[in-house]
Amino acid sequence: MKIVQSPQEMQRRALELKRAGKTIGFVPTMGFLHEGHLSLMKAARAQCDVLVVSIFVNPTQFGPNEDLDAYPRDFERDEALCNSVGVDYLFYPEPATMYADDASVWVDEERLSGVLCGASRPGHFRGVCTVVSKLFNLVLPDLSVFGEKDAQQLRIIERMVRDLNFPVQIVRGPIVREPDGLAMSSRNKYLTEEQRRNALCLRRSLDRAEAMVKAGEHDVRVLRGEMEHLIADVPDGVIDYVSFVDDVSLEPVERVDGRVLLALAVKIGSTRLIDNTVLVA
Ligand code: AMP
Repeated sequence: MKIVQSPQEMQRRALELKRAGKTIGFVPTMGFLHEGHLSLMKAARAQCDVLVVSIFVNPTQFGPNEDLDAYPRDFERDEALCNSVGVDYLFYPEPATMYADDASVWVDEERLSGVLCGASRPGHFRGVCTVVSKLFNLVLPDLSVFGEKDAQQLRIIERMVRDLNFPVQIVRGPIVREPDGLAMSSRNKYLTEEQRRNALCLRRSLDRAEAMVKAGEHDVRVLRGEMEHLIADVPDGVIDYVSFVDDVSLEPVERVDGRVLLALAVKIGSTRLIDNTVLVA
């Protein structure tokens, strides 16, 4: 596995690989890797000649009061994990080499970015779309795998690739969970033992809604009420949102009819966790 720090070198190597007729699979991450990240890498590995993974804690997708500096990092461990799944190139740039001081061009998605996480994290998806565009231009992937854990991000990236004609296929990777159901996340590290137990309310409330839909309850007010009730029982848990939205437009729905994305964000103490499922009725 080759570690590449310079964006110019990454792009030069990608161009060489393309000229040699190789297909490139790409998984962008912010590091502090877990099985969720590794599952995306394995999926890309299986479909491409060359696997590139990036580790970059992208400053432009963090708000002023968010956890950019505190975001967990462990490069040596990440390097070993990348090696273990057959990564060919680990792209690990410094922020200063990714953004010029006077950078002034941004990629802004205008329809899907204002709701759900975008409502409480203004500018977040502008940062995500911009960095993913830059990474695509440096890595030149044929295929890139994104996790369903970040449901809104995935849909926004798919929209960006469609609307800007990026020559890359976006593949969806299913959510990987801990044995007790908590969605894996680098931010789970912030949780105390008690908060870790309380964090199960996210998955539990999704399960409850799924079961109610299966039993015939399609009224979103009733479903949301039940979920909010379950989460309110948890000490330290504060709901950011529990949203039922159309799976494509991300517009709110009042009934579960067709494919509905049920997504939620809950703060457990100071740690903001997200989870989601797609309801089909
Ligand atoms: P991050 O390092 O959090 O920016 O995530 C990098 C990629 O891994 C994104 O496409 C995420 O959606 C994906 N990812 C994070 N957690 C999980 C998980 N538990 N299961 C599947 N994919 C995940």
